[in-house]
Amino acid sequence: MTTDVINPSTGQVLTSVPSLGVAETDAAIERAARAFPDWRAVAPGDRARLLRRFAAVVDEHIDELADLEVRNAGHTIGNARWEAGNVRDVLNYYAGAPERLIGKQIPVAGGLDVTFHEPLGVVGIIVPWNFPMPIAGWGFVPALAAGNTVVLKPAELTPLTAIRLGELALEAGIPEGVFQIVPGKGSIVGQRFVTHPAVRKVCFTGSTDVGKSIMAGCADQVKRVTLELGGKSANIVFADADLEKAAAGAPGSVFDNAGQDCCARSRLLVQESVYDKFLALLEPAVSSFRVLDPSDAAAEMGPLISAGHRETVASYVDGADVAFRGSAPDGDGWWFPPTVLLARSTDDRHWREEVFGPVLSVLPFSDEEDAIRLANDTEYGLSGSLWTRDLGRALRVSRAVETGALSVNSHSSVRYWTPFGGMKQSGLGRELGPDALLGFTDVKNVFISMGD
Ligand code: NDP
Repeated sequence: MTTDVINPSTGQVLTSVPSLGVAETDAAIERAARAFPDWRAVAPGDRARLLRRFAAVVDEHIDELADLEVRNAGHTIGNARWEAGNVRDVLNYYAGAPERLIGKQIPVAGGLDVTFHEPLGVVGIIVPWNFPMPIAGWGFVPALAAGNTVVLKPAELTPLTAIRLGELALEAGIPEGVFQIVPGKGSIVGQRFVTHPAVRKVCFTGSTDVGKSIMAGCADQVKRVTLELGGKSANIVFADADLEKAAAGAPGSVFDNAGQDCCARSRLLVQESVYDKFLALLEPAVSSFRVLDPSDAAAEMGPLISAGHRETVASYVDGADVAFRGSAPDGDGWWFPPTVLLARSTDDRHWREEVFGPVLSVLPFSDEEDAIRLANDTEYGLSGSLWTRDLGRALRVSRAVETGALSVNSHSSVRYWTPFGGMKQSGLGRELGPDALLGFTDVKNVFISMGD
């Protein structure tokens, strides 16, 4: 079977790719299981060299990978280049890991007690369509560095860069079977990762509902699981903040990648004393946000991923109080203008649910306590920002907001050397940084007796 891959900027078919069934998925998992003993036995320095070589090969193909992502996912060319570069950087970062997976020696009587960070075996990685390259890399790179083999399922809508990365891995000398791309449906390929006993860990990024079903499925074999799920992150602007800077950055913090970003700061909380002033600053920043053909170097936002997703996003705006909107191209493709909605209450559907589109919901708050209460009034806890010049308040609010990552006077979310992941229903486990690596290992404790 094959699946057509669509260019979301035009609605035209780009190409078609294989969509694997259960037997083919099982064959890939079994190849990965057979490749595991040799891969885990590769000397740490040699595994590091192979990962660095893979990074160099990715670096030689940045433009090609970026172009694929522009056409397959509608990402702006600027973002797509950053994303391909992120895979390279993550490879270089974790290339330092094989030689640093250092266990402990624990004092005991009568012998020697040491711990080892053992690889798990085959790791199954399920990638969504919103950031196909980085999310793939955040999973497969530390998994390989720790000595596991990997089967990776890209989203059906956006398989092209993952398939290319699989080819580049072979070109770089990663042995056959160690890193395989298994394109196909979540309900078939992804489910097989959950049920096949040779897969020892599943890393999933996507919707909270599917994440819950994967976690439930993995329980049957007590399979390890990492989940990166939805978000409804708050952007909290206090009256004492640099309002111009906060307003200038707010559109990018939610409309980047057309809002299809689990870190999107999609709930804007503004202190009531500066609410009108802040909206007046925000309006020109939104109306000048450049929604263009994503291959145009000036584009800040491209189309949504699919016609169906555009309908879903539109359903949140229908009947809501629109404060103001930007513009988007007419014609073919799944375009949607950046849109700012005024929340009537915290019960509004667009305030509570992850829209995953270029839609920002705004609500005023009275004081610090009110801001924290509103920020935490969600089942999610992934990301967020707060803007203030008061250092004490920055620390108090940072500690009180239930979220895995928070930026003060900034909208940045992700650095590959710092941990990323969610609290509450936004996920389980951490990606990136040193923490992620240990998530691809089990600790083994060995006692060696001195004799008697
Ligand atoms: P899904 O959660 O359905 O898909 C994410 C990935 O999981 C895809 O590779 C998908 O495969 C796979 N998958 C789907 N069902 C299963 C299953 N039963 N077992 C194993 N794998 C499965 O997200 P959608 O694409 O449907 O998007 C829906 C919403 O989810 C978005 O609007 C957004 O709100 C949220 N989302 C959040 C993301 C995040 O980064 N946190 C990323 C993507 C979506 P397939 O290719 O067949 O779809």
